[in-house]
Amino acid sequence: MNPFIVNVADLVNKPGARRHEHVEGRLPGPIMVVDSSLRTEVPAVVDGVLEWVSDGLLVTGTVEGAWEGPCRRCLRPVDGMLKVDVQELFEATPRDGESYPLGHDRVDLEPLARESLILDLPLVPLCRDDCRGLCPTCGKDLNEGDCDCLPSAADVRWAALDVLRLAGDE
Ligand SMILES: [Zn+2]
Ligand SMILES: [Zn+2]
Repeated sequence: MNPFIVNVADLVNKPGARRHEHVEGRLPGPIMVVDSSLRTEVPAVVDGVLEWVSDGLLVTGTVEGAWEGPCRRCLRPVDGMLKVDVQELFEATPRDGESYPLGHDRVDLEPLARESLILDLPLVPLCRDDCRGLCPTCGKDLNEGDCDCLPSAADVRWAALDVLRLAGDE
């Protein structure tokens, strides 16, 4: 059973009716963007207020999940949490890219959870902002100390590569 399906019979067509909702469950995977992926073994959480407005059901709250991926520079495994503010409309006749479908007396919050978390996955996972990466010449992890190659060559090359790959991801 899909834990993200919520019965909203008490709200439909009742202007101003609202209530708090909290659902969580595992999203089917894999869900990934470039190198970072959603940790689908960790439950995703949708928490917020459901409210009937003139056009449909408005969901305002947060979506939480967890991600993991290799550091873009040194390849060490990195993970972290995601928390996304959302405000989305569910309508009987959804508009593509604008709103989500409202079923008969129920909504499925899974697409909202999935899409919000995908948009929040880090494009350039870093173990830390100033990660020095691997030396492109000898492969040494420069976080553990300098190698005998030209100083700072790695920093410059990785910074340029991050920019190029980011542009390519757009
Ligand atoms: Zn790193
Ligand atoms: Zn080196």
